Amino acid sequence: MEDIKKNLQTIDDMIREAAEGCGRTREDVLLCAVSKTRTAEEINVAIDAGVTDIGENKVQEIMDKFDHVKPVKWHMIGHLQTNKVKYIIDKVSMIHSVDSFKLAAEIDKRAGQKGITMDILLQVNAAQEESKFGISLDETEALINEILEKCENIRIRGLMSVVPKADNPEDIKVYFSQVKEQYDSFGKIEHPRLDFKYLSMGMSHDFQVAIEAGSNLVRVGSAIFGERDYSKQN
Ligand SMILES: *Cc1c(COP(=O)(O)O)cnc(C)c1O
Repeated sequence: MEDIKKNLQTIDDMIREAAEGCGRTREDVLLCAVSKTRTAEEINVAIDAGVTDIGENKVQEIMDKFDHVKPVKWHMIGHLQTNKVKYIIDKVSMIHSVDSFKLAAEIDKRAGQKGITMDILLQVNAAQEESKFGISLDETEALINEILEKCENIRIRGLMSVVPKADNPEDIKVYFSQVKEQYDSFGKIEHPRLDFKYLSMGMSHDFQVAIEAGSNLVRVGSAIFGERDYSKQN
């Protein structure tokens, strides 16, 4: 647990360095600490050390931990099944993983029932990996238009991307840059329910390169909490 605090300091310094290296500041980049497989107790240590935003990739984990974690902003960053939206709609502050109109429509419906507006990011799969979720770059515009046209309780805040693992992070910079290009382009759309603020790219092994390519929201898990041990999960 002591390590969490120390790791956070290290990550904080690395984010600052990467941001300043490209003419931005530490404050320009939001750190979302990814706590999947971690306990509420561990998350609370991170919150005490200054973490304001927590990311989870499973609905069940959010539900299990929600009541045991100190006040914090929750981010749903993993694949979200339509039938599970109702469980998290009043718990998370943003959903990063919207990759279909069907999912957006369900989020819209549930947000409407709660009388809230849900912030979402569209997940784009820049590298076109078969195994990953997300829309392809050339599907983004159509999905944005359909959501703006039909979903009154959703605000589109930007884009999210997960890129392939590479031994040399520079190899994947091209993907980050493609997503950044789209982010800049669609961010110019003028619409009351589109307000681009977040480009969510970069994980433990590649967040510095992502920041260099323009990311302003990094999702860092193992570099903060340590390597995950999935065998311990029930
Ligand atoms: C697990 C996860 C992360 C964090 O991964 P690390 O390599 O542990 O930093 C980021 N984004 C998503 C979508 C994840 O599922």
